[in-house]
This record gives sequence, structure tokens and C-alpha cells, in this order.
Amino acid sequence: MSLLQDLLAANERYAATFQKGGLALPPAKKLAIVTCMDARIDPARILGLEEGDAHVIRNAGGRTAEALRSLIISQQLLGTTAILVIHHTDCGMLTFENAELRQRLQEQLGADASAIDFLPFKDLEQSVRDDVALLRSSPFLLKETEITGFIYDVHSGRLSPVP
Ligand code: ZN
Repeated sequence: MSLLQDLLAANERYAATFQKGGLALPPAKKLAIVTCMDARIDPARILGLEEGDAHVIRNAGGRTAEALRSLIISQQLLGTTAILVIHHTDCGMLTFENAELRQRLQEQLGADASAIDFLPFKDLEQSVRDDVALLRSSPFLLKETEITGFIYDVHSGRLSPVP
């Protein structure tokens, strides 16, 4: 079977016993999470969340600059009031620089990516602090928003707060 067939078969099994069709649109815990797209991270299981509990906004690195659009919608239209920023150990964003990726795109695809900041970082803790600070200083988020930053350890499964 192809991957796509496997995925669709899994969805058939999921839908066969699905019982959460009545959930409300706004997240029950009024929570939004920004985290990395890394395949080893399962935000719901890490935090004991169920369908309907929280918004999870994912991108490469869990960078809040890229998540801001979604966070504004999350707060203004869907009532969330707390944000968790979760970056993680062994993140791919620690492994490259803008110039390298831009050069690769130029060589492979003949595409000029000089206007794109891929938001890589060198210091994991600092990246969390920077991303929390960016949200705290945003004029588009509610002043009373509770914003906390964490590092997730992909080897231990543990979350640690970043002071
Ligand atoms: Zn990552």
C-alpha cells in the first residue's frame, strides 16, 4: 500500500469511532501553543490535551514572528488568553544559516530567496526568550496575555521553563 492509502485507511478507522463532532469552535482551555513542526513533538500528548482544548500553531522552529497572524485571530476571534512558546532540543533550526539555504535554493531551483528570513537560531534558550519578548511587545496581542516559554527535550519528553 502507498503512504496515502495507509493514511486514508487510518482515517477510516478514526472516523468509525469518532465521537467529538459536537465540540465548540473556541478552544476550551483558552490556550494557544506555538511550537516547532518537528515530527517528534506531539503537543497534545506532551501536555495532556484533547481535541477542542487549544490552538496549536506550528512552523519551523516554533518562531512566533511567523505565528503572529494566527495568534491575533486566536485571541480576537476565538477567545484565547494564554500562549505557550515551545522550542526543543536538537532542532533543525540550529543547523543552518540563512545564507546557506538561500544559496541552495539559488543552485537547485534558480530561485532568489534573499527576501526570506528563515529564522534560524544559534542559541536555543535565547530563541525562546526572543520569541516570548516579541509577543510581549506586540501591540496586536492582549496586554493581559499570559505568555510562557519552554524547551522540550526530545530525548526525555520533558518540558523545562525558560526563565
Ligand atoms: Zn525544531
